[in-house]
This record gives sequence, C-alpha cells and structure tokens, in this order.
Amino acid sequence: MPTQPASPGAVILARADVLAAISEDVPRLTRVFLSKEHRLAAAQLVQWMQAAGMHAHIDAIGNVIGRYEGQHPNAPALLIGSHMDSVRDAGRYDGIFGILCPIACVERLHQSDTRLPFAIEVIAFADEEGVRFGATLLGSHALAGSFDLAWLDKCDANGCSMREALRAFGGDPNAIASLARDPAATLGFIEVHIEQGPVLLSEGRALGVVSAIAASTRFQMRVEGLAGHAGTVPMGLRQDALAASAEMLLAIERIAQTRADTVATVGRIEAQPGAINVIPGQVAFTLDARAPSNTLRDQLCAELQSACDAIAQHRGVRLTAHVLQQLNAATCAPHLMQQLETSLKRCALPTRILPSGAGHDAMVMGSITDMAMLFVRCGNGGISHHSDEIMTAEDAALATDVLHDFILHFQPRST
Ligand SMILES: [Zn+2]
Repeated sequence: MPTQPASPGAVILARADVLAAISEDVPRLTRVFLSKEHRLAAAQLVQWMQAAGMHAHIDAIGNVIGRYEGQHPNAPALLIGSHMDSVRDAGRYDGIFGILCPIACVERLHQSDTRLPFAIEVIAFADEEGVRFGATLLGSHALAGSFDLAWLDKCDANGCSMREALRAFGGDPNAIASLARDPAATLGFIEVHIEQGPVLLSEGRALGVVSAIAASTRFQMRVEGLAGHAGTVPMGLRQDALAASAEMLLAIERIAQTRADTVATVGRIEAQPGAINVIPGQVAFTLDARAPSNTLRDQLCAELQSACDAIAQHRGVRLTAHVLQQLNAATCAPHLMQQLETSLKRCALPTRILPSGAGHDAMVMGSITDMAMLFVRCGNGGISHHSDEIMTAEDAALATDVLHDFILHFQPRST
C-alpha cells in the first residue's frame, strides 16, 4: 500500500534528525568545525542540494554552497543560509533549520520549473559557534572577506592548528581570501533561525521578523574591599566586597528590566579568599549587557556603571570595570524586513518584530550586503543550545511557506 507522502514540515524535521545523528557523541549532538562529522554532514547537504536542482560544492573553508541559477547564467544572487556546526550537546534545529528550509524552497521552485531573475545560493556555514578553535563565525567571515588569516594558527584542545585541520579536511588555507563575495553580485542575505528564546512561544506566534542583532559589551568587574575576621569585625566597620557585589547584581538586574529590549547578565562570580570565617576582600564578576542598538547599549552600560559606582562609594569598596569585548549591533535592512512582513501577511500570519539577543552569521554577512532574519518559534520554554530544543513540523512548514513566498516576490534594493 502506498504510504501517505510526508508533510513538507515533517520532511524538514526528518532531515534535521538525519543530520543530528551525524555527531561525535550520539545520541547527543556535537558537530564541530573540520571534524569527520562536518565532512559527513557536508556530503549529505550536497546531496540534498543537488536533488533540489542546485549545483553544490564544499568551498575552501568547509562551507557548503548550493546555487540555483536564475533565468540568465551568472545573475546576481540572493544568499540564504545558516550554520552547520553545533555547540556540545546541541539542539538539532539551531543553524540547521536555516539550511534545510531554503533547500526545501528551492526544491519547490525546481519542481515547478520556476526560474527567477536572480540566482539563489543556499549556504551552510562551516563554523559559527567557534567550539573547536575559539574563533567564531569563520564561514561567514570568509565569504564577507573579513577572515583574519592569523586565526589559522589557533589550536584546538589537542594542539592541532586550524591550518592543519583544514588541510586534513580537504580545504585550502591559501584559497580562503578568494572566497570573499563581490557585493555587486550579491542581492542580500536572509537567515532563518530558531528563536532560541521564549518570546514567540509565550505570545503564541509561529514566526517573527528580526529588527537587529543586538549590540553587546562584556565586562570583567572587580570589587576590592577589605578581608577580615568574620567574628571580630563589627558589621558597621566592614568593607565586604561580596555583599557590595550582591547589591550591584540586583541593581544590574533592575536597570536592565526597566529598559525596553535590554538584557544584562552576571554569569560568573568569584569571591576571595573564599573561606567560611573570612569577610570577602575581593570579588570578580562578569557582566554581559545587550541592547538593540549601539546607542541603547551605550546608555545601558553607562547607567549600569554609574549605579555600581554609587554602590561602591556608599559601601567603601573600590570598583574597576574592564571591557573584554564590544560588538556593534547589526541592523536588518528595512526593505527586506518589509518584504518578510508582506510575506507573513500573504501567508495569513501576524507580524511580530523582535530583536535578536544572540549573534548570528547574518551579523557578518550584513557587512557586505543587506541582511534580514526570520525567527521560528522555539518550543519547550524556548530552550536552545541543548538537546531539549524543539520545533514543530507545523512551524517548519509555515517558515518554509513564508520564505518561499518571500523568494518569489523578492525585490532587490533599488539603487
Ligand atoms: Zn545558531
């Protein structure tokens, strides 16, 4: 008896399952840059891209590129993609869905023999997470022409350099520079990604259009007080660095809560000397602050800093804040956001615009071309970077319908 053909969403989820099994620690999912699993997953993607009517290849850094020609050969291309590497014990849709979804769209074009005035390239970026070498977004940096060749000397935990690993993989360190895309031949970049947060889920929406990838600043904070005997120093005469830090943490939380779309997190804290009967004399804690624009991020950081300074002064401790990393916001192109919103409408879906708190390949691609992102609801409370990450077949199908509609109606920016 012929079996019922699987629904388009179910086909994508089944493919995500196939890729999730290409892992170094099955049944968990861990697939890092330039690993044997990277090679196997790349070969599988090439096969699916070819079946969808694309010419596909693996490039010098390990990205998989599938190209579906337009009405004329060598037409400028709309790029659509996401990353194929994972964190350790990852979810199976993070990155991968943004590759499988456009493959399904091209497959539809191919089946209906539709050619557009532009080419489509589906890209599976080799490395976004940076698990193996500690440098992130390597695949998109290569295409954006911002790959720093000094990164090739970085070594993994076993002392293997990226250069050696790339050669063993079959890549070519000397050809990375030549991967840089010509902005004139590139019409835009679209990334479809699981939200990795609970916003769409909590509002009962399947999809959202991203406004910007957040600006972020990371600090190392140090608080110096005075260590002393827990039994002999009266409460009124203490300079307790940990109690001061606790007050700062709560102020940081309160300030981020009162501002729209900002987040601030203290993820690690360490107190010295760390004994039960000693007043903590020194504390180090990290602070990660993010906001939808550089200006909002700078305002947030200034407010956090002055609140912490006031607490330090009041408590008689010394505070120093050292900036570890500062990333600027990447704003999504208004004309692409608008076209995504119109596609949502045509698919009878409500519009929800939201910022992305996490970094994505689109951030880097945005340096050479207009970019936009479509977020897909993340089930299970919005958990991601975890094996409990969930996406439904219905949401996968809706995202594919919207992306397909977007592609069919896509208009490059008028110059
Ligand atoms: Zn991702």
